[in-house]
Amino acid sequence: MKCINGHTAKTTPVCQHVLNREIETGVKRFTGVSDNFELLCEHCLTLETYKHHYLCDSCLEEVEGEADWMFHGMPEIPFRNESFTFEDTVYEFKELKDNAVIATAADPNNSAWLIFLANGKLFYFDPIKNRLVHKLSISDDCIRRDGCINLKISHDSSMIAITSCAPYIYDTHVSDMPLLKAASNHGGVFDLCSGEMLFKLDMDSYHTENNDFPLAFIQQGERALLIHGTDWNRVDISDPRTSECLTARDIDYKARAVDTEWLGRLIVTPDLQWVATVGWVWHPIGICYAWNLQVWLNENPWEPEYGKSKKKFSAWEYFWEGPFCWLSNELLCIWGYDKYHDANDTPLDSVAIYNVKTGELASWFAGPTKEVFFFDGYLFSGKPDSGGAKALTIWDVSDGALLYTEPDLAPLDYHADTREFISIDTDKAQIKLTTWFNLDSAVGGVCLS
Ligand SMILES: [Zn+2]
Ligand SMILES: [Zn+2]
Repeated sequence: MKCINGHTAKTTPVCQHVLNREIETGVKRFTGVSDNFELLCEHCLTLETYKHHYLCDSCLEEVEGEADWMFHGMPEIPFRNESFTFEDTVYEFKELKDNAVIATAADPNNSAWLIFLANGKLFYFDPIKNRLVHKLSISDDCIRRDGCINLKISHDSSMIAITSCAPYIYDTHVSDMPLLKAASNHGGVFDLCSGEMLFKLDMDSYHTENNDFPLAFIQQGERALLIHGTDWNRVDISDPRTSECLTARDIDYKARAVDTEWLGRLIVTPDLQWVATVGWVWHPIGICYAWNLQVWLNENPWEPEYGKSKKKFSAWEYFWEGPFCWLSNELLCIWGYDKYHDANDTPLDSVAIYNVKTGELASWFAGPTKEVFFFDGYLFSGKPDSGGAKALTIWDVSDGALLYTEPDLAPLDYHADTREFISIDTDKAQIKLTTWFNLDSAVGGVCLS
């Protein structure tokens, strides 16, 4: 098919109204074959058929740039079957019985895990010794256990940081619904040996219940430092053992705080160069951005707010709950491509990959879900359109191909050193560790024979 302007490259169908550039918002409808699509106006979308005009890629690019596009349908998910195998080891501990698990964290120095239960007890699970050891109990004064728990362990395994993002609770039995508990988002840093609380984590209460507490440990030589929220729109780096703040700024902060960005979960690149977050701004819009950690530490304490290194990647209306991860020291993989959403602006199952140095979109693909999201050579995710059925899917991030689906597996967490997923069944008081192998590729790395 020739382009309507006489060019002979690959062509895409568009409706008359798109062709004439009469619209500000249109629909990009995927045909379900490869990533082919058509562009049409919302009126033509309702018709059984419409008059097709064809544009080559370069004419299409011009038309595309002049309107906003809502996505319909789904690009075809490419399948390339690879042979993966999974091995389970099951452990049983009576302490787990009927106690909801509310957070886990992998110990970066060995094969162990931290497991935080709804009764406020933090356990150390050592699979090699087949032991579950009670490390410390965290009181209600420190965190509300009915909130969303953020648990981090330092790289030297000596400290944990734990916070809870808890909602407002009203008494719904009474007509004027009095407030029973105010929302909160705070916690503390604890020494894992002594159980002592070392440092308070607090970022005040200005709508801070709407997102995870920003928290990330970094190791600078012998020193374990913590990046943490210190106000609703502010993060700092502190030494939790001495309370020294390494990013202290002049106190005239409020006057300078023209930025109105709430921060959320933080993830740092393995080379400690970049830190990324998914936060939000009014009205509200979810945003993902990153800034250079070394510039922040060594040159400009205002780097997260006004830094030259700061790059913004995604923006979603009314949404900031998506997971994200670093694929390398440069590539950031964010769930929910912001141009690919339903009519309610909810992102559809997909990921977008950005280069943090250029800020440019490197690629995107449809399929991965947000419930499970771990990267280790492959992206491990959930199953699209499964209707709630559990399954672990494995994706090649270089081309978006779905490589494998393992049924009945929806792990809580992943230990990158041991390549084990953890699942916990408190009805049965069981922990299941699941190791994976790729029988086709060196990435899986382990020979079973
Ligand atoms: Zn039309
Ligand atoms: Zn053309």
